Amino acid sequence: MKVAMSPRSSDVVIVGGGIIGCLTAYYLTKRGLKPVVIEADGIASGASGTSAGWLTPYSSTDDPAMLALSPATLRLHAELAETLPALTGIDHGYEAFPYLRCAVTEGGVRELRDFQSRRASEGVAMEWMAGEDVHTLSPWITAEVLGALRSDNEPTLDSYRLTMSALQAAEMGGARMMSGKVVGLMTPSSRSGETRVVSGVRLEDGTQVHGGSVLLTMGPWSGEAASWLDYPVPVRPQRGQLVYLAPPGDGDGPELATGVTAIEHNCSMVRKRLSDTVVGAASDFVGFDRSITSSARDELLIDAARLSKRVETAHISGQTACLRPVSADGRPYVGRVPGWDGVFLAAGHAGHGIHYGPVTASAIAGLIADGRSGYDIAALDPARAGATTV
Ligand SMILES: Cc1cc2nc3c(=O)[nH]c(=O)nc-3n(C[C@H](O)[C@H](O)[C@H](O)COP(=O)(O)OP(=O)(O)OC[C@H]3O[C@@H](n4cnc5c(N)ncnc54)[C@H](O)[C@@H]3O)c2cc1C
Repeated sequence: MKVAMSPRSSDVVIVGGGIIGCLTAYYLTKRGLKPVVIEADGIASGASGTSAGWLTPYSSTDDPAMLALSPATLRLHAELAETLPALTGIDHGYEAFPYLRCAVTEGGVRELRDFQSRRASEGVAMEWMAGEDVHTLSPWITAEVLGALRSDNEPTLDSYRLTMSALQAAEMGGARMMSGKVVGLMTPSSRSGETRVVSGVRLEDGTQVHGGSVLLTMGPWSGEAASWLDYPVPVRPQRGQLVYLAPPGDGDGPELATGVTAIEHNCSMVRKRLSDTVVGAASDFVGFDRSITSSARDELLIDAARLSKRVETAHISGQTACLRPVSADGRPYVGRVPGWDGVFLAAGHAGHGIHYGPVTASAIAGLIADGRSGYDIAALDPARAGATTV
């Protein structure tokens, strides 16, 4: 829906400048719309700026509804890796390194073999490597590893740079960014039946921003919108922590050539082109607390040292904590908000928001601009939130 443009009005108002908000702004401009992105803190100041940036659908769930969207989002990521740097000059570090899922027990070997057959049934080929082949490929992997599954289609990137680049590309297409905290929706007095019509948003300082459509994509803060909508948005924050390992100095050992994880541990080492290796990710529910803890760092490093001899010699170059937006049933809410005309929700991507960011953003942009998402997102319909609470 188009409305007349003024400094306080836009085709589409996007609340939240994380990966989903900024990519949606980009895809909307490609469809000729001029959205405004309203951000309460800084662009990519939430998990979108501090994620591990691993494009995998497998890190914690096997949800078939999400797995079905994985090939499309990988294709969109590959496209964005070509188009965004050419437009904005920002390299977001997209690269497909080999990834090894290792087993250190016989039970783990069986679990990986099952994982391999499930992937094969979805058309995703992963090669089984015996222990000696793993050690030939990556001599820094410990002798504890009995075998591994090799995957070559789970790239990594820098999610802060991707989010910034998406916003910049959107701005080049006519989008705007605005600082401020949204505290409510505006509705004209007229109602069409029981459906409420949106006409924009209200900010904490009293500013009103008009728009014919509003996208709520506030990450773990999305639950705040429940009172604006008079409709449940059961999304809560889960803290995650990452430790960064700098490459070894001369003589300390070989470079980490692949990403690696052990099926028996909750710890992954993700190789990045533009930053140090990431070890992640510890998880707990502590409200909106974003502090780092020494206990999470120690647990991650103990698990990582079981996989890689490099961990003992590597220098710890950093540690971060950020919040995953977790929905009541573990699946994101993407689509129209029931009972509202022109309000859309895209929230609750938990540990997969970077991976599923492009397909989510493209689907929402299609719904807003043309009334069609272009992907099968029926299973993500926010209508199911009506029956749940967290
Ligand atoms: C440790 C860790 C590692 C991760 N690693 C990966 C990974 O490897 N791969 C992967 O796919 N995913 C990963 N994730 C998950 C991923 O980071 C998130 O799913 C994704 O960033 C969520 O993006 P978002 O845009 O929904 O939310 P966010 O990035 O949280 O952005 C929401 C934005 O909305 C703003 N906002 C909130 N309320 C308001 C308001 N009222 N008004 C205006 N603005 C508002 C916030 O300030 C924030 O900037 C990881 C997460 C964590 C914690």
